[in-house]
Amino acid sequence: MTDIKSMTQAEMTAFFKELGEPAFRAKQVFCWLHKGAQSFDEMSNLSKSLREKLAGCCYIDVPKVERKQVSAIDGTIKYLWRLPDGNCIETVLMRYKHGNTVCISCQVGCRMGCAFCASTLGGKVRDLRPSEMLDQVLFTQLDSGEPISNIVLMGIGEPLDNMDTVLRFLELVNSPDGLNIGMRHISLSTCGLADQIDKLARHRLQLTLSVSLHAPDDETRSKIMPVNRSVGVERLMQACHDYFRETGRRISFEYAMIDGVNDSDAQADLLAKRIRGMSAHVNLIPLNHVEESPLKPSRRVKEFQRRLEEQGITVTVRRRLGSDIDASCGQLRRKAMQQS
Ligand code: SAH
Repeated sequence: MTDIKSMTQAEMTAFFKELGEPAFRAKQVFCWLHKGAQSFDEMSNLSKSLREKLAGCCYIDVPKVERKQVSAIDGTIKYLWRLPDGNCIETVLMRYKHGNTVCISCQVGCRMGCAFCASTLGGKVRDLRPSEMLDQVLFTQLDSGEPISNIVLMGIGEPLDNMDTVLRFLELVNSPDGLNIGMRHISLSTCGLADQIDKLARHRLQLTLSVSLHAPDDETRSKIMPVNRSVGVERLMQACHDYFRETGRRISFEYAMIDGVNDSDAQADLLAKRIRGMSAHVNLIPLNHVEESPLKPSRRVKEFQRRLEEQGITVTVRRRLGSDIDASCGQLRRKAMQQS
């Protein structure tokens, strides 16, 4: 059986040709799927025999809302979806002035092991499929009734550890016959897999690359991000400089401020030095406290910000949304797992 929703439009056209069906049928089915159709029977402009033929060789999976939490403070909605195989993933809908943004997951769990992150505590269970990434956007939009204009790949999982799927997902949401969300409205966040950043650069996508740096020196970064033990800040920054040269796209560096770990003046100075010469932007994130972790939020966010700005770096501090509903970093999935 084939996961038909994971097919790109070109693949779908080729598939229908093999079935002996005209190309416009492929387009009709693609449109149905990208509107959230849950079965071939709903596809009322197809003949009964074609619907039966498709149901005989393809399946349409749909996630179910396992839990839904709405923030009373800012209207952020957090979904915990139950996939047909029993696994759960999280999606968050955030409302900004420039439009609704959905934060989606790309894996069930994560194997990167960052010390401050709740998503990685149980390790990685499996990669998501392109359709399962698309569904998070589709069904968040359908369930909430809110149109979605922006996507951030900042949920559970490491996008560049499931890169082929992510590239296919991007092609799907970008499709004019589907959701038609432009690359400039999409951000991809990575813990810094340098070889994969090199590969991504060659695709020259117009999306925004966010790099979760969190420390400018190897000693600190290796302590909080195990990935740094094999890649190293030097190599990562080289990949970022190359990425900028290749794509011309400004890179965003994520920096979660941790008390006494990565918030010194010397670290701000080194950070400024590391990103000089490239069009970049630093996003300081007030650390979200994770129960299982001893790390505490920094009290020096303002000072750190000022010190970077004095050296000509563009800095923003991330606004916390949905703080009353655990709307970040795998915490809802974790709670659900512990309860079951
Ligand atoms: N694996 C990708 C994307 C998922 S994490 C990555 O590492 O970038 C999305 C962002 O949230 C990353 O910048 C991550 O480092 C950050 N993050 C994870 N746990 C956090 C916490 N407890 N407080 C603040 N930011 C956190």
